[in-house]
Amino acid sequence: MHMPVPDSAIIARKARLVERLHKVLPQDAVIDDLVETRAYECDALTAYRCPPMVAVLPSTTQEVSDVLRLCHEEGVPVVPRGSGTSLAGGALPTADCVILGVARMNEVLETDYDNRFVRVQTGRTNLSVTGAVESDGFFYAPDPSSQLACAIAGNIAMNSGGAHCLKYGVTTNNLMGVTLVQMDGTVVEIGGAHLDSGGLDLLGVICGSEGQLGVVTEATLRILHKPEGARPVLMGFDSAEIAGACVADIIKAGVLPVAIEFMDRMLIEVCEDFAKADYPLCEALLIVEVEGSAPEIDAQLALIMDIARRHDPVALRESASAEESARIWAGRKAAFSAIGRVSDYMCLDGTIPVSELPYVLRRIGEMSKQYGLAVGNVFHAGDGNMHPLICYDANKPGDLEICEAFGAEVLKLCVDVGGCLTGEHGVGIEKRDLMGYQYAPADLEAQMAVKDVFDDKWLLNPAKVFPLDSSEPRRATQMAAE
Ligand SMILES: Cc1cc2nc3c(=O)[nH]c(=O)nc-3n(C[C@H](O)[C@H](O)[C@H](O)COP(=O)(O)OP(=O)(O)OC[C@H]3O[C@@H](n4cnc5c(N)ncnc54)[C@H](O)[C@@H]3O)c2cc1C
Repeated sequence: MHMPVPDSAIIARKARLVERLHKVLPQDAVIDDLVETRAYECDALTAYRCPPMVAVLPSTTQEVSDVLRLCHEEGVPVVPRGSGTSLAGGALPTADCVILGVARMNEVLETDYDNRFVRVQTGRTNLSVTGAVESDGFFYAPDPSSQLACAIAGNIAMNSGGAHCLKYGVTTNNLMGVTLVQMDGTVVEIGGAHLDSGGLDLLGVICGSEGQLGVVTEATLRILHKPEGARPVLMGFDSAEIAGACVADIIKAGVLPVAIEFMDRMLIEVCEDFAKADYPLCEALLIVEVEGSAPEIDAQLALIMDIARRHDPVALRESASAEESARIWAGRKAAFSAIGRVSDYMCLDGTIPVSELPYVLRRIGEMSKQYGLAVGNVFHAGDGNMHPLICYDANKPGDLEICEAFGAEVLKLCVDVGGCLTGEHGVGIEKRDLMGYQYAPADLEAQMAVKDVFDDKWLLNPAKVFPLDSSEPRRATQMAAE
């Protein structure tokens, strides 16, 4: 993975920049000491690291606007950051950039139960949005497994999903409006406390734009009434192919579970070891959860378990209590942390048509042998969003490069079978150089033309999303035009 050479002229102006930043921010909101900036040197894609030149922690939209205007004047790149849990390297700094972290912007600004929305500063963590409304019987639906830590800012930038998004949709389906600060400091409101707005769907453009178009400082989020109840069932199978066929049959039957999650043997073992979730040890495990009133749950589960029985499960167990349900989910939600205890790993995130699951899983197994690296699979099976976790040894020279090549081949396979490079983690740096595999040059050109409009100097989140051979010349041209 290549990054552009840092601009030494920008780094030479660091002292002046820091002086100017101190004029618009409180003393403790500007971090320029090399040791302290190391805290921001990577996100959850820890294979790639680079401390930023400076990090800033504004508390208000006005402060964000002041920082961006100043960096725009100085020609300094800015990398927006939420909680730094991106698995795609979306928040990776460059040595000549300012990291703009929104972690201090975590207030709930407005709660409206009649119109079912909550307005928050975007540094607020995903789980604490639900935390703010659950005592009144509401919740915020998108539930990334990282929800304890990740911020709404990053969720919007990556259009994040989660286990329960099969029923409720991903971030874009639950986002009503944003306050966005453009690179020149202009503050704009897009969407609002209503379900739709006239004109172009700019909110759709912003959600998933990976910090390329502006810094989102406030968000209006749709909240929902908590369902009366929910119950998961565990299904164990002899092979991933059989589990994949069972998923396809559940979807075909027209029943809509709130989640269908898949784990293969490696993940079952590490999650069981970590979370003691009482998973059956088998080749493939499905967690299928339904919601509703007690009779609704019973009816849906009866149908789903009938379908499962036709696929000769080696285990079939309905949760018998709230504690057991929590334990089942604790295992799944800890999957990435659990595997992190046993190996360095890279988490992929491709999406495929559900019917292709058995074929793609088989090919990933074959590639694992070919590249000589173990792979575990955990994913949102209901919507075909795969997360192969490729294990490698970060201390073994050459292993990371093998892992990158393996990962690239898996993601290309996702595109080949009619899927796409990313389901919920975004492109970042991880999939940047594969964008040309999915998009024709004219498609990429259209996407970059959108960035031209929002970020005229191409200063926001450099070297991400667009392949360097097309983005770097464009950036140089835009800067020269100034
Ligand atoms: C253990 C684990 C489990 C995970 N599970 C899931 C999962 O189930 N589903 C899922 O979708 N993801 C998952 N992720 C990935 C990650 O948590 C999400 O991508 C999350 O949305 C990132 O949020 P963040 O606040 O940490 O963003 P960061 O990592 O800080 O940044 C992510 C991107 O958002 C941009 N950004 C940050 N703040 C702003 C802002 N204010 N304005 C504009 N752009 C901004 C950054 O520049 C970067 O491109 C998981 C990660 C981990 C480590």
